[in-house]
Amino acid sequence: METKIVSCSRGWLDLAKKLIGEGEVVAFHTETVYGLGANAFSDEAVLKVFALKGRPADNPLIVHVHRDYDISSLIDGEPPYAAALRRTFLPGPLTMVYPSTGKVSKYVSCGLDTLAIRVPSSPTAQAFLKAADLPVAAPSANLSKHVSPVTARHVFDDFNGKIPLILDGGACSGGIESTVLDCTGEVPQILREGLVTREMIAQVTGECKVYRARSGEKPKSPGMAYKHYAPRCKTAYFTAEELEKAVACYESEEESGAPCFLCESAVCALLKNYRALDLGGAPEEMARRLYALLRKGERQATLLIGIEPREKEGVMAGVMNRMKRAFGVEHGTEER
Ligand code: AMP
Ligand code: MG
Repeated sequence: METKIVSCSRGWLDLAKKLIGEGEVVAFHTETVYGLGANAFSDEAVLKVFALKGRPADNPLIVHVHRDYDISSLIDGEPPYAAALRRTFLPGPLTMVYPSTGKVSKYVSCGLDTLAIRVPSSPTAQAFLKAADLPVAAPSANLSKHVSPVTARHVFDDFNGKIPLILDGGACSGGIESTVLDCTGEVPQILREGLVTREMIAQVTGECKVYRARSGEKPKSPGMAYKHYAPRCKTAYFTAEELEKAVACYESEEESGAPCFLCESAVCALLKNYRALDLGGAPEEMARRLYALLRKGERQATLLIGIEPREKEGVMAGVMNRMKRAFGVEHGTEER
């Protein structure tokens, strides 16, 4: 199968609609990362997404809809705070988990009685979802465990010959996956941190919890149990206070391979004589650059050495979560 990277013109949108209707899989730009979409009503189409990615069968998918789609048939009611959050943050990088009516394929939620719904703000995603006019189940468009894609080329690198169409909307401005928020309880609870932060949610709702799975417990968001976002090279990870150790690690790899640092601008400035990929300074910039640099790093280096950014609150909570999982420092039930 030929994999085409195309713009969001009328003709390509018509083809995308046709493909989705036929149970095919279409990749599309969103403001967070690229998605791998299929008709959420079709068992066969949803199972195809799992098979293409090699995604574990207990890691549920997020359903994507356009801004005017009526979600009331998909969800079994919503608390008042959820309606307020929708008005404030949607369309945008916030996924909301509701009690499900079970109308979409049972494979979407992997047996959970809840459904995760997202309304992306990317014009490409909106045009695609409007054309399809049905709920589109879509995980990130990367092979399972690999780094999430933030350009059409990244999707192509993982799925060339395996999917018919990639709707190109350019580089993703957000850069890390959506915040996943459980809206089934009295107080909203973040299951996965992202660009919509606990502080932003609490400003609207008054209160917002962040879920932390206890050791040995199955996480509420099953995807958090898996090692993720891993570059395909050796990795090492140090805090900014361990810079001497990090340099020793770099120099020892240099004898036989090609090491490279991945660190924030302030630390890059201290490592002028070494090869380093610059994450940037502001949290939003680091979120936007992280995945592209992890993919660049795996192509160019035999050992990628991550240095932990110093700021860890707000948007950085989401960046840190992805970074630690990419470097294998935290995954499974130990993670935040
Ligand atoms: P991805 O689309 O690859 O970014 O992954 C989707 C994330 O949303 C995973 O971490 C899933 O575990 C989580 N998710 C999807 N559906 C649900 C749900 N019904 N309840 C809790 N988490 C969910
Ligand atoms: Mg993913």
